[in-house]
Amino acid sequence: MHLTDEQLNEYLDNETNEREQIELHLHSCNECNARFSDLQNLFLELDSLPDLQLTRDLSTRFATKGQLTLQLPHWLTLTVFAQAALALIALIISIPFITTYIPQIDVASLTSPLFEIQSLWNTWLDSLSTLQLPTIPELPIPVLEMSSLLLALAGIFVIWIFGNGLLLRNQIR
Ligand SMILES: [Zn+2]
Repeated sequence: MHLTDEQLNEYLDNETNEREQIELHLHSCNECNARFSDLQNLFLELDSLPDLQLTRDLSTRFATKGQLTLQLPHWLTLTVFAQAALALIALIISIPFITTYIPQIDVASLTSPLFEIQSLWNTWLDSLSTLQLPTIPELPIPVLEMSSLLLALAGIFVIWIFGNGLLLRNQIR
């Protein structure tokens, strides 16, 4: 039985526990001895080669990759906070419109939309006179549309956050 390449490699790397057997075979077998010298020369050549400097440090790529996976949940949390802040702003903006629109609901269910607009216009005029604000040329219809638009936006934001919250919770688990 001749020595395998694996045995010779292990012998050169000093990672064998059959050292004596290998040495014995190398002394008695010319064929394996020749293969051993070839392998030894190859090892010496490889050792004599200069260590080439990599153009890019690959270790940094792995380091940033690890950081990225750690930072991802943090980034997602920030997004949720940003969305919550936006929703809060939208709600604050829409509050004056909601408070003026909601009292009109009872009237709207009983009377015609025309009366609704008229009453809204009256409340708008009342608020103008009580607050002593300079008259702003604005129709009640755009106000009504704006309030419902903002209400819808606020609703979308709330749903968005709630959805993201569920998504995050699933990712953490
Ligand atoms: Zn042999």
